[in-house]
Amino acid sequence: MHHILADIIAPHYCCHCDTIGSLLCDPCFHELTEEIIFRCPVCKQPHTSGQCQTCTVPYDAAWCALERSGAIENLINRFKFERAQSAAALLARLLHTTTPTLPPDTIIVPIPTIAPHIRQRGYDHCLLLAKHFATQRQLTCSRLLYRDYNSVQLGATRHQRLDQMKYAFRCSQSLSAKYTYCIIDDVTTTGATISAAARVLHSAGARSIVAAIVAYQPIS
Ligand SMILES: [Zn+2]
Ligand SMILES: [Zn+2]
Repeated sequence: MHHILADIIAPHYCCHCDTIGSLLCDPCFHELTEEIIFRCPVCKQPHTSGQCQTCTVPYDAAWCALERSGAIENLINRFKFERAQSAAALLARLLHTTTPTLPPDTIIVPIPTIAPHIRQRGYDHCLLLAKHFATQRQLTCSRLLYRDYNSVQLGATRHQRLDQMKYAFRCSQSLSAKYTYCIIDDVTTTGATISAAARVLHSAGARSIVAAIVAYQPIS
């Protein structure tokens, strides 16, 4: 409750220029999305088609155009770690602006957030992002993936367990080859989460799988 009040009372500052009002003002929004170059979530090489010419991946296409640095990093961090829930709509607008047109029968599939992170934040940040994006695109958002912690080995170290948790997905139902399933995530570091999710959707019957991600972690 405390953080909800704080979000209402405290004014928002633009993550890019510090202007009071929104977490990202309109001029900065346009500046950040002026030039769109898609990157492969795995190797970060630029591509124009959604398909990387070098990587073999278990999905048909993936679009990710923004680098997680500067204002974008600031915005994502406020959303994930400072409980700025209102950033969901802005990040969805960024995703909407940087993702090509999807087929009309596309189903939006959020990457399920790890339970301790939902408890920490008070919301499932990726679900919020996916819902806002689906609304913008007038598409259906469906929580088809869930976390399968039973596959996480109890004997492993805490670090190993957390690592296994990241990729332990299950699909809640059989899927149809008629639809396109678009996986949504906020950040990609290695592309491993998207690939793990895509494999699970494919096993459940999906044949057309794409991904849209707000930002990629730059290679350090
Ligand atoms: Zn600004
Ligand atoms: Zn690649």
